[in-house]
Amino acid sequence: MSDASEDFEIGREGRKWNHHPGEVRLNPLFAWPPQPMSVLRWYANYWLAVTTTTVTVLAAIVGWLIFLPPLEAMVEWRWSWVLRVWLSNLIPHALCAGLLHIWLYRWRQQDLRWKFEARGQTQKSSVYTFKNQIHDNMFWSIASGITLWTAFQAPVYWAMANGYAPVIHPAENPAWFIAVFPILVVWSSLHFYWVHRLLHVPFFYTHAHALHHRNVNVGPWSGISMHPLEHLLFYTNFAIHFVVASHPIHVLFHGYMQSIHPVFSHSGFEWVEIGDKRRAKAGDFFHQLHHRYFECNYGTVEMPWDRWFGTFHDGSEQGSRDTVKRKAKMYGS
Ligand SMILES: [Zn+2]
Ligand SMILES: [Zn+2]
Repeated sequence: MSDASEDFEIGREGRKWNHHPGEVRLNPLFAWPPQPMSVLRWYANYWLAVTTTTVTVLAAIVGWLIFLPPLEAMVEWRWSWVLRVWLSNLIPHALCAGLLHIWLYRWRQQDLRWKFEARGQTQKSSVYTFKNQIHDNMFWSIASGITLWTAFQAPVYWAMANGYAPVIHPAENPAWFIAVFPILVVWSSLHFYWVHRLLHVPFFYTHAHALHHRNVNVGPWSGISMHPLEHLLFYTNFAIHFVVASHPIHVLFHGYMQSIHPVFSHSGFEWVEIGDKRRAKAGDFFHQLHHRYFECNYGTVEMPWDRWFGTFHDGSEQGSRDTVKRKAKMYGS
């Protein structure tokens, strides 16, 4: 699998965006011939800098230390601790999405700098629940997203507490404890690609996934604004904890990584500026292309499923032409 960068030409695609960040790059771990230095750089950028990955690891540790009930308290199923799990998901999610939305869209602190789409979010449209994009996105994220996220996560804690799901302790097995974090990232990417492809099958698209795609111009609250059927499929990936030995911190991280990460990746801005300086990498052009062109980039940049299955859009004019052709083939027009 060669790196396609030497063939990359933005072409007219560059003019279709307020900010085009250049070629979309995938995890070089799977490139052929091997690119060890690129792989090291890739993982250093993810794990040794302020990114959504490191922020969610930190949030998981803090959440476990100060908020999540200990496993002993979750041996018996009680709604009081399930409510606590729901809050441990709601509070960081609402904080991240709320603050990011206020910063970027309400206060417009960086105006259009680093913003992919020139347009703002839709304030009023009958397409949305409550006829308002933000209210629509908040409603589906909280009522369905955080509730079903909790509905899949709480049984994992209960199973861990009762010995039905394997638990490890960081002090006894530190190497495995660390390894589970990247394993979860790769697992989520694999799972998401296939669930997402299924959601683009016309039946599932019409009845479920279209709700997420109302958001052509995405914002932080669009991240997990999805139909309950999509949430049901999306959160089945918590099942990995019944097979792979993990710790409650991993379960928290797993939830944050696949729910708070989309808050940032749907923010619509490549970078968040504070005091006129780029402070945090936020948006994900790979997924922004999916929201504009639909039938491309179903997965994430962590696993090159899209390249392997011919659905990768690298941000070039050629990528758009290929996607239009594929769409015509899919819908027979
Ligand atoms: Zn999306
Ligand atoms: Zn989609």
